[in-house]
Amino acid sequence: MEFDFSHSDLSATPEKQVFKRIGLFGSTGSIGKQTLDVIRANPDKFAASILTAHSNHELLISQALEFNPRVVVITDPTHYQTIKQVLDPKGIIVMAGEESLEEAASMDIYDMMMAAIVGFAGLKPTLKAISSGKDIGLANKETLVVAGDVVMALAAEKKISIIPVDSEHSAIFQCLVGENHNPVEKIILTASGGPFLGRKPNFLVNVKREHALQHPNWTMGVKISIDSSTLMNKGLEMIEAKWLFDLEPAQIEVVIHPQSIIHSMVQFKDNSIKAQMGLPDMKLPIQYAMAYPNRIGNDFPRFNFLKSATLTFDPPDIKTFRNLALAMAAMNKGGNLPCVMNAANEIAVYGFMKNRLGFLDMTEVIEKTMDKIAFIQNPTLTEYYESDADAREYSASLINL
Ligand code: NAD
Ligand code: MG
Repeated sequence: MEFDFSHSDLSATPEKQVFKRIGLFGSTGSIGKQTLDVIRANPDKFAASILTAHSNHELLISQALEFNPRVVVITDPTHYQTIKQVLDPKGIIVMAGEESLEEAASMDIYDMMMAAIVGFAGLKPTLKAISSGKDIGLANKETLVVAGDVVMALAAEKKISIIPVDSEHSAIFQCLVGENHNPVEKIILTASGGPFLGRKPNFLVNVKREHALQHPNWTMGVKISIDSSTLMNKGLEMIEAKWLFDLEPAQIEVVIHPQSIIHSMVQFKDNSIKAQMGLPDMKLPIQYAMAYPNRIGNDFPRFNFLKSATLTFDPPDIKTFRNLALAMAAMNKGGNLPCVMNAANEIAVYGFMKNRLGFLDMTEVIEKTMDKIAFIQNPTLTEYYESDADAREYSASLINL
């Protein structure tokens, strides 16, 4: 099978770095803050033209005062006046409310969107950016889990590039540069295994959110940290990879690699395997996506093979971490099932964080919701939105939210 990576322009040759104006959606989050670290370190290459946050207005204000964007958006309108009072005199446009995200995404004041909002909320602004002809640095994996076919078709139609920021997908993308005529046999997504690697249900049943938030190798936002502890994150990433790289489910393998040094691998039809490696640091895939097709220097700590112990590989325990099995089933069946699963997962994670349900109960909520919501084989975008809303309502009713 031939793969068409034309939407991602993997044939591009290095060129003089062009100055890029970044529309940073989700600037107050883990990816958002690290994106600003990269911009701060490379003021000759990048600027932040748009900053958006959900509710952390204090951080949004201090980011805006430092980076002087053209526009800031706060989706929770409560803080609109406070922000406006400070930023108006600086000539920064302040907007509020969910719809303002799409309005900002359609503005001709930036070159690349860094899609760093968490969850389903990232989908609409990202679609708006694509339809406005912007390239996307994609951290928000849920966008592809919910409506990957719609997103990738629109990206191809608008001839824009989606450069993955998720470390595994960045690794695969980097392995594929220069290989666009060479068929992929399979990809191997590595997974750290999260904080509960090797644990069994009798332990997991008592796990509290404080334990689940302790990821061994990465410091991340709350939702992805919980997803990593349940292995749902790896399930979402399988679906993300399917759409990004146009793969069949059978071509996507997950391997537990607790050291997080190999970020993922591609096996080609000649049986050659390429891996992308390095110390775990999200700033690397972030700056790679922003600088692509170039690589830019940095002073991040270097990996030393001689000082590192062993790199190990094991199969995932999908009998214990059933969320991964559910995600595999959703990927195999397709249609609106990944969208439904994602919505139920967002509600389940929220409920777990609020101490409304136990660690293993999250899987029950997701499974019941996947069974309940009507299956649609080829949903329209509107049907994806409806499936998301129905799934949220049903899973919330299961835990009395
Ligand atoms: P986070 O929770 O730290 O930050 C989320 C950002 O989105 C914040 O700026 C917040 O204000 C904004 N936001 C939250 N809800 C919103 C809403 N309803 N409307 C508008 N904005 C909203 O999350 P994060 O860890 O930075 O992750 C962001 C995305 O990147 C996720 O999709 C995650 O899966 C993905 N990702 C993160 C990492 C990581 O290391 N953190 C790695 C790979 C992929
Ligand atoms: Mg990842």
